[in-house]
Amino acid sequence: MASAPLLAQHGEAAALKGRTYFVRTFGCQMNLHDAERVSGLLDSCGCLPVSTPEEADLVVFMTCCVREKADTRLYGQVSSMVSAPEPPCGRRVVAIGGCIAQRDGERIRESMPNVDVVFGTSAIASLPAMAAQAFSADAGGLAVDTIEQGRGFATDLPSRRELSYHAWVPIMTGCNNFCTYCIVPYVRGRERSRGMEDVLSECERLVSDGVREICLLGQNVNSYGRDLYGDTRFAELLRRVGQTGVDRIRFTSSHPKDLSHETILAMAETPAVCDQLHLAVQSGSTRILKAMNRRYGRDDYLSLVDDVRAVMPGIALSTDIIVGFPGEGEQDFEDTLSLVREVGFASAFTFKYSRRAGTPAAGIADDTPESVIDDRYERLADLVQDLSRAHNELSRGRLVEVLVEGRSRKEDMLVGHSTQNQTVHFPCPTDMAWEDLVGKLVCVRVGEVRSWYLRGEMEGEPR
Ligand code: SF4
Repeated sequence: MASAPLLAQHGEAAALKGRTYFVRTFGCQMNLHDAERVSGLLDSCGCLPVSTPEEADLVVFMTCCVREKADTRLYGQVSSMVSAPEPPCGRRVVAIGGCIAQRDGERIRESMPNVDVVFGTSAIASLPAMAAQAFSADAGGLAVDTIEQGRGFATDLPSRRELSYHAWVPIMTGCNNFCTYCIVPYVRGRERSRGMEDVLSECERLVSDGVREICLLGQNVNSYGRDLYGDTRFAELLRRVGQTGVDRIRFTSSHPKDLSHETILAMAETPAVCDQLHLAVQSGSTRILKAMNRRYGRDDYLSLVDDVRAVMPGIALSTDIIVGFPGEGEQDFEDTLSLVREVGFASAFTFKYSRRAGTPAAGIADDTPESVIDDRYERLADLVQDLSRAHNELSRGRLVEVLVEGRSRKEDMLVGHSTQNQTVHFPCPTDMAWEDLVGKLVCVRVGEVRSWYLRGEMEGEPR
């Protein structure tokens, strides 16, 4: 069976009822959210979640192909399922979803012969049908659904949130930008926005369920609505999500070329929008930005930062930076360092360039020695660490509002994030149970400052 005909969208629940499942996720927030939809959908079919793949009848891998490492980890983990003991039902079904599924489709069988089901980025709703078919006695082939055209958002699917107080809300998917190093437009397709009323009614539902923080998700949130309404509506969306009564709003990802003044004003004028903006710069060299097809130059980025800071002077800015893009010379890298210094980022995700087959940049020859790229990466990491420390110093002695997430892994402390997205640790007051504070907003007086976290004492009452 090369490609399975799909059964009715939800009628296969009976065939899956009582089966155990496990979902493993690789990659970005969009993937994490897709995994929540997969779990919600399987729950609604009567499947039971288990905590290890070995216990599961159905193992779902939600894949990412943005970085090579995620690809390699996936192959290792899927292959290891071959030697895992059979589950109690006697047959294990392995399903691959997400970007690698979309990219490779039927070719997945060549590298991972134990895979039964492949569902692409727009085909989450097809998973129960294909899994039910794979469990049936006459199954034996590979079921594939990577159809993208004509499919919008799977917003009518249930979702099982990992956290009671936080929710991802997808507002758009796909990307029209075609940065030369990026595979996303090829695997997630063109930009498709979700209707504003649909987004808002999900946000209202979440707020009435007790969610305190919503993160609006999309590959390029600043161009939200252009495909639906003819112009971008992200500023309006931010203001209207703010009116739902949610305590905190975050969003990701923002492309600098699409961040409008209107959106900057909406951020400043919507109290729930966190005091933080992630704005991926990728390089400080106009020459390299051009080669990346980012469609802004160094000066454009710096003047955008000036605009943001003119309206929100204390905002915490974070970014993504790629080191070692093909053709990056020492001067280009120095330009990156100087831009990073000039902006004074509060934090940055730094990556060594990772060649992705099928992207234009993969064809650019480059003989920069690995040791040079390693050295640049270290220099940048040192600078980012110093800047993070300097940014965190500004919080010393101050009260910061923290959304409590739970107990810290390393110490007997509670941990959460400030509106500027700083990790904050503090001891649980002796007259309170730590479980009662999870999902609450508390004020913490910062006493100790590190590059990657703050530590302090809680003051006042939680809310
Ligand atoms: S904006 Fe560029 S980096 Fe971001 S998803 Fe689109 S193509 Fe990829």
